[in-house]
Amino acid sequence: MTNEPLVCDICELREGESFPVIYGKALVQRNTPTRGSTATRVETTYGVGGSTRVGLCRGCVRRHRLQTLQPGAALAVAGLIAMVVGFMGFLPGQMSISAGVAGFFATVFGIAALAIWVSQQETFAARYAVKRREAALKEEGWNAFWTEKEYARLEHKQGLQG
Ligand SMILES: [Zn+2]
Repeated sequence: MTNEPLVCDICELREGESFPVIYGKALVQRNTPTRGSTATRVETTYGVGGSTRVGLCRGCVRRHRLQTLQPGAALAVAGLIAMVVGFMGFLPGQMSISAGVAGFFATVFGIAALAIWVSQQETFAARYAVKRREAALKEEGWNAFWTEKEYARLEHKQGLQG
């Protein structure tokens, strides 16, 4: 597999890093006994159809990544404001407490969303490349899609013939 830059799939202007998108199908599901227990776990074997590549330039990746940051950041900021307004007692009695408590939870969820966002730093572009192709590949009948790393971690896979 070559790793030559490809024209960006989004702006179609600049050259970008090329990301592999690997596609396939869920084939068989088996119940495998878990050792030392009566429980079984479902194991899916995937048939691998092939792979394609998607180019994404840094500018487009950065722009899209910032967009995904917004909901978490907005929630955290709104939560902080509600918390300050509530707990500083700017609102009458019970309303103040409600606003403070709601603000607290909004802040916690906002910060959790931001932590997830930060943790996706490295996988973001590769995942986004997969998303760009998913709809078209689904139309061709594929139902499983992986980045290079996800594919490497996949346990049960086999090539499809034809
Ligand atoms: Zn671009």
